[in-house]
Amino acid sequence: MASHIVGYPRMGPKRELKFALESFWDGKSSAQDLQKVAADLRCSIWKQMAGAGIKYIPSNTFSYYDQVLDTSAMLGAVPDRYGWNGEEIGFDTYFSMARGNASVPAMEMTKWFDTNYHFIVPELGPNTKFSYASHKAVAEYKDAKALGIDTVPVIIGPVTYLLLSKHAKGVEKSFSLLSLLGNVLSIYKEVIAELKAAGATWIQFDEPTLVMDLDSHQLQAFTDAYSELESSFSGLNVLIETYFADVPAEAYKTVTALKGVSGFGFDLVRGTNILDLIKSSGFPAGKFLFAGVVDGRNIWANDLAASLSTLQALESVVGKDKLVVSTSCSLMHTAVDLVNETKLDSEIKSWLAFAAQKVVEVNALAKALAGQQDEAFFSANAAAQASRKSSPRVTNEEVQKAAADLKGSDHRRATNVSARLDAQQKKLNLPVLPTTTIGSFPQTMDLRRVRREYKANKISEEEYVKAIKEEINKVVKLQEELDIDVLVHGEPERNDMVEYFGEQLSGFAFTVNGWVQSYGSRCVKPPIIYGDVSRPKPMTVFWSTMAQSMTTRPMKGMLTGPVTILNWSFVRNDQPRSETCYQIALAIKKEVEDLEAAGIQVIQIDEAALREGLPLRKSEQAFYLEWAVHSFRISNCGVKDTTQIHTHMCYSNFNDIIHSIIDMDADVITIENSRSDEKLLSVFREGVKYGAGIGPGVYDIHSPRIPTTEEIVDRINKMLAVLETNILWVNPDCGLKTRKYAEVNPALSNMVAAAKVLRTQL
Ligand code: GLN
Ligand code: ZN
Repeated sequence: MASHIVGYPRMGPKRELKFALESFWDGKSSAQDLQKVAADLRCSIWKQMAGAGIKYIPSNTFSYYDQVLDTSAMLGAVPDRYGWNGEEIGFDTYFSMARGNASVPAMEMTKWFDTNYHFIVPELGPNTKFSYASHKAVAEYKDAKALGIDTVPVIIGPVTYLLLSKHAKGVEKSFSLLSLLGNVLSIYKEVIAELKAAGATWIQFDEPTLVMDLDSHQLQAFTDAYSELESSFSGLNVLIETYFADVPAEAYKTVTALKGVSGFGFDLVRGTNILDLIKSSGFPAGKFLFAGVVDGRNIWANDLAASLSTLQALESVVGKDKLVVSTSCSLMHTAVDLVNETKLDSEIKSWLAFAAQKVVEVNALAKALAGQQDEAFFSANAAAQASRKSSPRVTNEEVQKAAADLKGSDHRRATNVSARLDAQQKKLNLPVLPTTTIGSFPQTMDLRRVRREYKANKISEEEYVKAIKEEINKVVKLQEELDIDVLVHGEPERNDMVEYFGEQLSGFAFTVNGWVQSYGSRCVKPPIIYGDVSRPKPMTVFWSTMAQSMTTRPMKGMLTGPVTILNWSFVRNDQPRSETCYQIALAIKKEVEDLEAAGIQVIQIDEAALREGLPLRKSEQAFYLEWAVHSFRISNCGVKDTTQIHTHMCYSNFNDIIHSIIDMDADVITIENSRSDEKLLSVFREGVKYGAGIGPGVYDIHSPRIPTTEEIVDRINKMLAVLETNILWVNPDCGLKTRKYAEVNPALSNMVAAAKVLRTQL
């Protein structure tokens, strides 16, 4: 009767760690205060899992910032610029690496596989001197042990660590980071020996890169690494944990052949092929299979009956005493505890399970497998599953039918983009190098207060509308003074570009405490899409028409696109994601058409998160891009030629999806790129034909720095060298909501000046 949890959220049920970290960083509390909050959180998590009956309880899944950074600290892989003295790494060095300090910038951060979590990218090279510099894994193991709880220390595996690293500054790209394996392993051996001495009987190595498309050289590194460690493993059980997809057949062969390893963990939620692989390729005799059947990436209650039958199928292959029930991945990618949700009604609540509830599910499945099924728990679960299937709140026949009708057909605007641009220009009459912004203007304290008070019924609707109207008017006047060509209303009524729409669409629910760590102390609270999506009434027409009435210049209608709404939500798991996306696309389509009918001539549909939904494995990418791009086109295929559709994308790596971007067939795209001009422009230099309007951001809005006119002129000139003059737009990188007016005013003024300088030269 064995149960296992891959990892657990570290933020705390009410984001206790966030507040403790931020107060420490602000100098408002001491290191001891922070350590106390952290120790209490770890202790309560261990006790909770032990209380639930979990056999293999993880330790070292806590982190003050990030588990990859913790591994760099363990290995002493500190870049020289932090001036580290070689002793045990403390908060100073650790947080400098994570966040930078007054004199040195932070290390780079990037997305953890296809999640919304970001890790600190190790910087390595031939001169990196590894040493055992953080004993955190051992310390946490001992802390738990002192509470009477024997845990499984979790460490990022050596090969995944190296594969996620980048070349330190100045290191030749031809240098193979995998050649550092031997050096890294000698530190792993020290850690393993110390954990063993402290009494550990199991160690979990997370090797999620095994689910990626790896070449034979990379796979060989796993064989090399674990053979090298084999002698250190004696007297110890070792689990190799994978997650986020199934392990490709080659990698499955490699990993299951590893010597000295006692068990393998697989994601059976996203890894739809694992069951077949295990049946067809077999499973090594005498080894443990950790079966990740409880979804760590979502908030839905497990379908216990379905999981039980999967587990029984696995049991017949690996044997009763070798099967361990587990989560699909660390639970850090889901919300913490449903108990703290006071605003969700009981029906919806019965369909959900957050991390704390998933721990209970794992244990219930393990008990059921051992013949001690908790009948009451299982029947309550079955009833909840049934109610989710049949609830009229979930199903909307009309929407189902409309979405089904879309299948198999294509949706495109009738006229090609260059003819459309001509028709639009006749109406809009814009100068060359037209200027615009991405949508939001600075969100002041006053604005946040007004929205909060309105939500809490402390001010009337009338007062609220008046306040927002004043704000819009201010932003419109400012843009006119700056002489910007295509205006925005500034989005003062929105606190978040997905939540704002989710709150007005049916099929969405919102949590009070459903936070998920995004990076460091930052968390996001994704909406829950539980039912068929529809739009009961117009969402933005009121504000957009009000804004348009304040100016004779074109005012952009501002919407969030279907793919971005999908990718930034917890999505229902009872139908394919593509279907949910099509439903959202139909709802946005109605909004687009209402805006057009109300006289809005330019409509921007943001697809900030389209790139980040790209599946990990190449074999799945084409399908995703196909339905994602199709959904975008559905949202705006019904407008007249003269209505100009803009889109905007964040995140700078577009080169691999440029053909899909073109296939979106927007009239104008604004792209975040100011930190990687060269990369984006190189695509066009290499001959990709781009005929629609395009505005690669001309300055970085993430920095308070004010760009000069000359520097913007320079950048635009570089763009003009590869793009036609008549398609280029001039705009910042992204929305301005995190900036101050003291930065925005001069920056935009220089941006407009740059466009004007260039216009006189053309
Ligand atoms: N229109 C949004 C804004 O300006 C876009 C934000 C984004 O791309 N993340 O805030
Ligand atoms: Zn953006």
